Amino acid sequence: MSQPGIPEPAVERQRMDVDVVCVGFGPATAGFLTTLAGKLTRPDGTPLVESQVAPGMPPQVICYERADDVGFGVSGVVTRGRSLRASFPELDPAQIPMAAPVKEERVVYLLDPVGASRRSLALQAADAFLRVFNWLLPVRHDALELPWAPEFLHKTGGLVLSLGQFMQWVSGQVQGTGLVQVWPGTPVAEVLIDDQRVTGVRLADQGTDKQGRPSDGFLPGMDVHAALTVIGDGPVGAVGQQLDRHFGMPEGHHTHDWAVGMKFVVDLPENTELEPGTVLHTFGFPEPEIFGFFYVHPDRVASIGIFVPSWFDSPVRTAYRYLQHWMLHPYLWRYLQGGRLRSWGAKTLQESGRRGEPQLVGDGFARIGEGSGSTNVLTGSGVDEGWATGVQLAESVVELLTAGKPFTRAQLEATYVQRRRDSWVDREARVAERARDGFHRGVVSGMLGMALTGLSRGRWNLPGRSMPSYRRLPTLDHYYRGRIPAEEVRRIVEACRARGTSAHQALMDRCGWPEIPFDGQLLVSHQDALLLGGKVQAPAGYADHVQFLYPNLCTTCGTQICIEICSGQAISPGEDGVPVFDREKCIHCGACLWNCAQPRPGDPDRTVLSFTAGAGGLHSAEN
Ligand SMILES: Cc1cc2nc3c(=O)[nH]c(=O)nc-3n(C[C@H](O)[C@H](O)[C@H](O)COP(=O)(O)OP(=O)(O)OC[C@H]3O[C@@H](n4cnc5c(N)ncnc54)[C@H](O)[C@@H]3O)c2cc1C
Ligand code: SF4
Ligand code: SF4
Repeated sequence: MSQPGIPEPAVERQRMDVDVVCVGFGPATAGFLTTLAGKLTRPDGTPLVESQVAPGMPPQVICYERADDVGFGVSGVVTRGRSLRASFPELDPAQIPMAAPVKEERVVYLLDPVGASRRSLALQAADAFLRVFNWLLPVRHDALELPWAPEFLHKTGGLVLSLGQFMQWVSGQVQGTGLVQVWPGTPVAEVLIDDQRVTGVRLADQGTDKQGRPSDGFLPGMDVHAALTVIGDGPVGAVGQQLDRHFGMPEGHHTHDWAVGMKFVVDLPENTELEPGTVLHTFGFPEPEIFGFFYVHPDRVASIGIFVPSWFDSPVRTAYRYLQHWMLHPYLWRYLQGGRLRSWGAKTLQESGRRGEPQLVGDGFARIGEGSGSTNVLTGSGVDEGWATGVQLAESVVELLTAGKPFTRAQLEATYVQRRRDSWVDREARVAERARDGFHRGVVSGMLGMALTGLSRGRWNLPGRSMPSYRRLPTLDHYYRGRIPAEEVRRIVEACRARGTSAHQALMDRCGWPEIPFDGQLLVSHQDALLLGGKVQAPAGYADHVQFLYPNLCTTCGTQICIEICSGQAISPGEDGVPVFDREKCIHCGACLWNCAQPRPGDPDRTVLSFTAGAGGLHSAEN
């Protein structure tokens, strides 16, 4: 697909034919390929059915992943692992680097030890109560450990994993069968659609300039035709976006609710008392809307991080600095002090859950995983659910192949969609559907709403109205009213823009957030994190995957929040008032897509920032 506004170059494209083509190698596609590869041959090694494109051979299955290697994505992860264990009944966590059985779970409310967060009167009263009665209540290190973890949060019997390590392990398993190919470093630009039927994918052009125009060594992306296209490209995938536009969302469904999850993988200090399998969930600090997680792997390694949700109505909702304040909270710092940063990353989560479910199938295509609305917003769990939808699709594909039936909408509905509706994934997603609605009215009603939904198993909810992020965003003046005079806010932002930087650091300093005591080990600057171990790379010759389509709207954009939230400092102020994108720093978190402050003229479901498929990003398989 050419970049928006750039005409499609008239070129001869190479063509390849396969039976099944997949977009993205996340847990959902890994579940699909694991199940499919296990069923494509009979026990005597003969093909279950013959390929339609390579007679005499088993069906030809190929998967394209945009990142430079498999497992270069970002996730927690603690998972109940029900569908993972069903796929690998003999699964021994000791065989997978960084995996451990869940041992202990704690839910912790963090008070504000620095007095800089924005707390409602209700929360301030609750905090004051906790501080006064700390001799009676288990309030230690400015935190209250809840006496029990609610049932819906429990991951009893589950696993703490590094998703990167797990995905590399799975990739070895599926490719070892010789029945499936996984090609990393290969972004899919779009699906091919012929008269409402998806007929395959087009790979991204290479050898282009930043705008996607042919340049030195131009290599047009190949067209890969297939009877079935499986889309598992996650929450902000370009192909999923294209399908949503082309086929529309089901009535009443939307993708307005998001979060950016940022995480560090750290070496804990040598004398750590935390055991592998320890799981901490936090809420309350650095801002009440921000949730945190702390998962302990074997060998003193931990995955720690925060989620910054779209209903945190701040026009400067940066994740990096907030993550450092979270780490410095006394309850957590006593575990972290003396530790070392190994790697880091960020990624968007689709938080609309089942209400974000798109058209799951159509003629020639099926959608699986988080981009298909499988993530459970009550339990905060997406890996097991995504994997399960992949398994359900693979079982359906085998059923259709064996029966000699085509991959039409009707057949995929009768098999895949039916399996999904009959499964625990859909049952639990229905319970969770309205769990977070209360957050649209505030944090306290949000927490109450989640508890109500969890305890009543979805029968009761606190209502709230979801809306696109750009409609919720307050202006800078409004957000800082009562804390920083409007004139000073303007001066701070102008000075930062003139220096070519984002403004959130200066604004947070001014609101009383203490300086981060960088130690070069665990607390490093955002810029140093990007350089750490050469962890971000961008191959040359691809179009910029972030584009500002309406420069005139960017110059009049009050917040320019894309600059503030950018997880990789890849978007910075431009001299003419239009932000500048630097592909070399982009970690493909997708936060700029849903945070942009302006709807696209004539298409309010999209913003004026375009986020398409691109290569490169993080180079770490620990996240
Ligand atoms: C910080 C963080 C912590 C989390 N913690 C947990 C947790 O503790 N437990 C849990 O269960 N879940 C957790 N999640 C959620 C979980 O990671 C997701 O639900 C899960 O990864 C979704 O799997 P998926 O396969 O649908 O999509 P993804 O994991 O997003 O995979 C999609 C893949 O498609 C690729 N892709 C995208 N576009 C293209 C394209 N055009 N061409 C080729 N490839 C493409 C992407 O690079 C990616 O590898 C967490 C998420 C984050 C960000
Ligand atoms: S891309 Fe969106 S958020 Fe960024 S400056 Fe333009 S309109 Fe504003
Ligand atoms: S430019 Fe890249 S790193 Fe920055 S928010 Fe967008 S996707 Fe994330």
